Amino acid sequence: MIDLQGPTEFYDAYVFDMDGTIYLGEGLLPGAKRMIEELHRRNIPVRYLSNNPTKDPQEYSEKLARLGLPTPVDEIANTVVTTVRWLKAHHPDATVFPIAEAPLIRALDAAGIRRSENPEEIDIVIASYDRTFEYRKLQIAFDAIWFHKRAILITTNPDRYCPFPGGRGEPDAAGIVAAIEATTGATLHANMGKPEGAMLEAALAGLDVDPAHCMMVGDRLGTDIGMAVNTGMVSALVLTGDSTLAEAEALDEAHQPTFALDRIDHLIPSAARAELGWSDDD
Ligand SMILES: [Mg+2]
Repeated sequence: MIDLQGPTEFYDAYVFDMDGTIYLGEGLLPGAKRMIEELHRRNIPVRYLSNNPTKDPQEYSEKLARLGLPTPVDEIANTVVTTVRWLKAHHPDATVFPIAEAPLIRALDAAGIRRSENPEEIDIVIASYDRTFEYRKLQIAFDAIWFHKRAILITTNPDRYCPFPGGRGEPDAAGIVAAIEATTGATLHANMGKPEGAMLEAALAGLDVDPAHCMMVGDRLGTDIGMAVNTGMVSALVLTGDSTLAEAEALDEAHQPTFALDRIDHLIPSAARAELGWSDDD
């Protein structure tokens, strides 16, 4: 059963998705600011995660600050961070072909990871959310994977689309993965975003906490809540973004969020909210 009332206790750390959870477009969602400030006041660690590889963590830090939530850059992890971290740990000497925008390319270069567009020397094709995707890039990936039979395929994130305010969106990395899989017959080797645990490792790096006592909060069942399920975290689906309560209820119990909340500030237990004098109209 999904709990619709909200938690009655605080957890050891809170991990937040950003888009559709903390903000939508350039606006904070109702209750987000006072909720985060209350966690800070209680000295509870807060971390932010995004599957979006088209921004640097620094850009998220600046955006959160602009919206009134100043956040150090090391409290933010996105798939630029997890992809570079994974390559350095598992394939430090590989030559990669990133189908990606500038933030990931900058981070690969900064980490000393070799890049190439020559299919004869590419070991790893990184399919990403790339709004400069074109036939030429598909051909390079195709040659490296299918013709030269040497490259593996990984992705930064498995999202189908990136939501915008008002219901529109943009095709995301899943479309690029699908194009490469469909033409080469290859299957994806690894995913650097939610719902995989690599993302949580990056988020909780440096914190001495047990994921079972940490709260994951997000608006997408497949990625945010999926990661919580995969890593044994407590989870809250906020109904301010992508997934609906009906979709959550249709899942088998093992894949359901612990909580589903209309407002993100319902993460603060109701007794504490009453003490603070919060109302849902604020
Ligand atoms: Mg989201």
